[in-house]
Amino acid sequence: MSEFSSPEEIAERLAISPKTVREWLRAGELVGIKVGKSWRIHDLDLARLLDEQLFNARLARAQKIHPDLEWTRGQCRECGMLMPEPRKFHNPHWVCSAKCRDAYDDKAAAITGRGTEEFADCAGTVVPPY
Ligand SMILES: [Zn+2]
Repeated sequence: MSEFSSPEEIAERLAISPKTVREWLRAGELVGIKVGKSWRIHDLDLARLLDEQLFNARLARAQKIHPDLEWTRGQCRECGMLMPEPRKFHNPHWVCSAKCRDAYDDKAAAITGRGTEEFADCAGTVVPPY
């Protein structure tokens, strides 16, 4: 049962006001169910909202760093996190963070005997905006 939280529990976890959580629910940004007069939110739906907000922040940063590129929705090749990707310069080794880059590098080295450093050609000149 612990996978469902009240707006108050979520507010405490994120150090925000319960009013903000209820506004997300009313606006349909956060999916929840109403039990009597109170809302219950599944952990996965909260995670989805936070992932989406993080994606939007990363998209804004990517557009600021490379305003010349058209950005699209992509995913980290290591953890699957939503991640803006440039439409034209497809990078098959796109990752969301330095941590994922290191983990991806280790796997690549284990499989191919070389790190992703050597894939620099296909990575092109655009680097992920972390
Ligand atoms: Zn990742």
